[in-house]
Amino acid sequence: MVDIHITLTEEQQALKKAVADLCQLYPGSYWRELDAKREYPEAFVQELSKAGYLAALIPEAYGGSGLGILEGGLILEEINRSGGNAAACHAQMYIMGTLLRHGSDEQKARYLPQIASGALRLQAFGVTEPNSGSDTTQLQTTAVRQGDAYVVNGQKIFISRVMQSDLMLLLARTTPLSEVRKRTDGLSVFLIDIRDLPGFEARPLQTMLNHSTNVLFFDGVEIPADSLVGVEGKGFSHILDGMNAERVLVASQSVGDGRWFVEKGSQYAKERVVFGKPIGANQGVQFPIAKAHMAVEAADLMRLKAAAMFDAGEPCGPEANMAKYLSAEAAWEAANACLDCHGGYGFASEYDVERKFRETRLYKTAPVNNNLVLAYVGQHVLGMPRSY
Ligand SMILES: Cc1cc2nc3c(=O)[nH]c(=O)nc-3n(C[C@H](O)[C@H](O)[C@H](O)COP(=O)(O)OP(=O)(O)OC[C@H]3O[C@@H](n4cnc5c(N)ncnc54)[C@H](O)[C@@H]3O)c2cc1C
Repeated sequence: MVDIHITLTEEQQALKKAVADLCQLYPGSYWRELDAKREYPEAFVQELSKAGYLAALIPEAYGGSGLGILEGGLILEEINRSGGNAAACHAQMYIMGTLLRHGSDEQKARYLPQIASGALRLQAFGVTEPNSGSDTTQLQTTAVRQGDAYVVNGQKIFISRVMQSDLMLLLARTTPLSEVRKRTDGLSVFLIDIRDLPGFEARPLQTMLNHSTNVLFFDGVEIPADSLVGVEGKGFSHILDGMNAERVLVASQSVGDGRWFVEKGSQYAKERVVFGKPIGANQGVQFPIAKAHMAVEAADLMRLKAAAMFDAGEPCGPEANMAKYLSAEAAWEAANACLDCHGGYGFASEYDVERKFRETRLYKTAPVNNNLVLAYVGQHVLGMPRSY
C-alpha cells in the first residue's frame, strides 16, 4: 500500500510557486480579452512550453523533466487557481501516457524531444463523434489499411485545439464492429501530423467557453502506416490506460478552480458592505462559501491519494474516478457560492467570475461526464449491475 503524503514536498511547493509566478504575468484581463475574442492564449502557452512545464511528464531522456502525475497536476491546478485556464494546454499531459506506454521507440525519438522543446505541439485528441458520444466503442470513423498507409474517413466533434496543434492523437475503427468479438476490439490509435493533410478539414465550433473546439472531417485522408500507436485493434485499451492520468489531471484543474472561487468569494464577502456590514457576516453568504471550501479540500485529498497511487504504479481506477467526480462537483459548488455572493457583479465580465463559472462547468461533462463516473463506481467498485 502506497504512502499518501498530504503535505507537499519543498520541491513540489517550489514548483507551484514558480508556476504561480509565471501566471501572475497573465492576469484576469489577459484571459478576459481572449475569452471575448475567442482566441487561443498563444503567448501564455509559449511561455509555459519555454519554461518546460508542458514537458513535465516527458522522460528526461527525451528532453522532458520526467515528473509524476502529481507534479503535472500541480502545474495545471496552479494555472486554474491563478485565474487562468489550463484547458489551453492540458491535452499534452492527458495523452502523454498513451504515447509513452504504447508508442514505438522510433515514434518517441521522432516526436518527444520536439514536443518537449515546444517545437511541435500535441494538444489535440480526437475521440468524440456526433453519433456515438460517450459510447466510444460505437464510433464510426474508419481507418483502412492500404499498402503503406491507412485511409481515414469519418467525422469528429468537439475536438479542441486542433488549429493550434501540429499533431493529433486519433481514435478510429480499423476492424468493423460486426467482425470483432468484443466491441472494445478493432479500434486503433494513431499519432498523426495534421499540418497540410489532404482531405482533412477542421471547422470551428463556437461553445459557451473559449476552448478552440472544432468539428473535424476526414475524407479519404491518407496517413502513414507507421502513425499507428501500439497494436492495431487495441486502441481502446491503449487509451483507457491513460484515462486514470487524465482523471487525476482534470481533478487537479477543478481543485485549482475551486480554490480560485473560494478565495475570490470570501475576499469579496469581507469587502462588500450592504445594510451597514460586510455581506460575509451573513450566514446565508458565509456558509455556502465555507461548505464549498470544505468540499474542495476533501476533493483535493482524494486527488492526492489517486496521484500517489498512480505514481507508485498501483491500480487507481476507483480513486482517479472519484477524484475527478468530487473535484468537478466541489468546483461547481464553489463557483455557485462565488457567483451568488457577488450579486449582480458576478455577471459582469470584469470580475472574471462569470468566465471562470463557464470554464469550470465543463468538467462535470468532459472529458467524461459525471454520470459515467457514477456508473463506473456503481458497477466496478460496488459490484452493482451495469446500468447502460
Ligand atoms: C468544450 C468541449 C471540449 C471538448 N474537447 C474534446 C476533445 O478535445 N476531444 C474529444 O474527443 N472530445 C472532446 N469533448 C467531448 C466530450 O468529451 C463529450 O462531450 C463528453 O464525453 C460527452 O459526450 P456527448 O457530448 O456526446 O454526450 P452524450 O454521450 O450524448 O451524453 C449526454 C448526457 O447524457 C448523460 N448520459 C449519457 N449516457 C449515460 C449513461 N449511460 N448513464 C447516465 N447518463 C448518461 C450524461 O449526463 C451526458 O452528459 C469536448 C466537449 C466540450 C463541450
